[in-house]
Amino acid sequence: MPGSDQRRVARAAAAASRTLADLLWPPRCGGCDLPGRLLCEKCAAALPRIDVTDACPRCGAPDGSRGCAECGGRDFAFAGARCGGSFEPPLSRLVTLHKDAGELRLTAVLAHLLRTAAGDWTDWAQAAVAVPASPAAVRRRGFDHGALLGAAFAAESGVPALEALSARSRQDQRGLGASARARNARSAIAPVPGVAVPPRVLAIDDVFTTGATLDAATSALLEAGAREVRVLAVARACGGRL
Ligand SMILES: [Zn+2]
Ligand SMILES: [Zn+2]
Repeated sequence: MPGSDQRRVARAAAAASRTLADLLWPPRCGGCDLPGRLLCEKCAAALPRIDVTDACPRCGAPDGSRGCAECGGRDFAFAGARCGGSFEPPLSRLVTLHKDAGELRLTAVLAHLLRTAAGDWTDWAQAAVAVPASPAAVRRRGFDHGALLGAAFAAESGVPALEALSARSRQDQRGLGASARARNARSAIAPVPGVAVPPRVLAIDDVFTTGATLDAATSALLEAGAREVRVLAVARACGGRL
């Protein structure tokens, strides 16, 4: 089946399953559980958005544009980072419901935040590569939230999604310190052999905590042919919280 037909069938199937899900489990706000919509007006207004002009250009932390306590002294392989908002309620709740409770209808909401955070980077980028979830996490959850987010961001932004990274099993990053995260992440992400990676790439993840996972993803993308990688995350968890 040609690619465009495949995409049409996939879109129709996704729309049908969304309709069914809406009938069986009517949408509730991911921020406050109010029935009716996936994100109510109050929670949409309360999202702790990060203004890119005030944020740290290296790690995307809020208010870090003139000196950043989050990433000072640390080297990253990526050239810059932008994040949609702080990992605080109601955004943290949306991210957690999406990933850990399988509320996949939130993928579009999170992808929209990513698109907003990306700004003019979507004109620069030639591909968007999502950080894949570990095989153990995919088995546990039944889906790869990273791949879903990457595909939804591509649909929203027009930057083509590229599945250029593979994940090996690793320890969950939550609860690990910065150096343990870096070691753990580096051993877990590798380029997919034979995938041509263009020079300018956006690496995508749901949460930027220490940057270790996105740094490892960047190193793998540079190894696979990228010349510059910028990173985008839905949420920025500051102070190593998660
Ligand atoms: Zn709400
Ligand atoms: Zn910073």
